[in-house]
Amino acid sequence: KHAGGQTYRFFEDRMRGEFLVSVQIENDIRQALKAGNQFALHYQPVKRADTKETIGVEALVRWFHPKKGLISPAEFIPVAERTGLIIPLGEWIVRKACQDLYAMRLEGLTLTVAINISTEQMKQPDFVDIIRTIVRTEGVDPSNIQLEITENALMENTAESVAKIDMLRALGFTIAIDDFGTGYSSLSYLKHFKVDSLKIDQSFIRDLPRENADKAIVAATLQLGEKLGITTVAEGVETEASSQYLKESGCSYLQGYHFSKPIPYQELMMYLDREKVK
Ligand code: C2E
Ligand code: CA
Ligand code: CA
Ligand code: CA
Repeated sequence: KHAGGQTYRFFEDRMRGEFLVSVQIENDIRQALKAGNQFALHYQPVKRADTKETIGVEALVRWFHPKKGLISPAEFIPVAERTGLIIPLGEWIVRKACQDLYAMRLEGLTLTVAINISTEQMKQPDFVDIIRTIVRTEGVDPSNIQLEITENALMENTAESVAKIDMLRALGFTIAIDDFGTGYSSLSYLKHFKVDSLKIDQSFIRDLPRENADKAIVAATLQLGEKLGITTVAEGVETEASSQYLKESGCSYLQGYHFSKPIPYQELMMYLDREKVK
């Protein structure tokens, strides 16, 4: 019993610790949004599986905390979602990605920029309006923007979400299902939502071509994409062996450390220059 009490106290302390940490992160995110120079977007190339040509990039947010240094989005995005701060932060991300897309066009590059959209952003009644206003103000074409949405985001308020996705697609945006295969949902949502791409979660890609279960899941997903007439993206491609395997299996696009980590805009320009020369 004594030990039980101690264990309980331990958990209670730890929970309080985590609570304090998240309150501090919340305050620091507020500060960072005001300061305006602590967040940045890094870009990870997305390659055609057959030619390895870079056809697009995924924008991934980075936070350079003045005291703590680089903080992972896995740590602060959940806090931003719980506190509603993902709304202003998400708008900053969309605007910044559009500005970088505009700069890419000036460089003569035609790339698709994929932007991660959180469930909380999707839930806003005026989400479509907000995003339409940003692309108009920044002077970019929605057909160069892919919105990455998780399965869970689609499961909330299905009728409303269907309408939003349809409106976004009518404006020219393409829609990808992110982390495909990891949500709590059944596949039935694919009946109601017209989407353009499935991004196979990296947990199924990491151990290719060794793991039989992963191979089966990936093969089924690629076939599903083909039958639905939509593209497939494998993320978390870390080895030549998995890159080769995915190409032979008919996956459309590949993304992962094997090709490049997410890198700042300037480094991306150098990466694309090297690619042109090769
Ligand atoms: P995600 O959208 O699934 O992004 C892919 C994550 O996998 C990124 O981590 C990326 O750096 C990492 N990754 C890419 N290739 C490889 C690989 O070959 N191996 C391994 N081990 N990892 C790889 P990151 O940037 O730390 O982002 C983590 C998550 O945070 C993202 O997962 C996404 O859910 C969220 N996130 C990141 N940026 C944004 C954003 O701008 N907005 C929103 N709402 N969420 C974001
Ligand atoms: Ca993503
Ligand atoms: Ca993902
Ligand atoms: Ca993820």
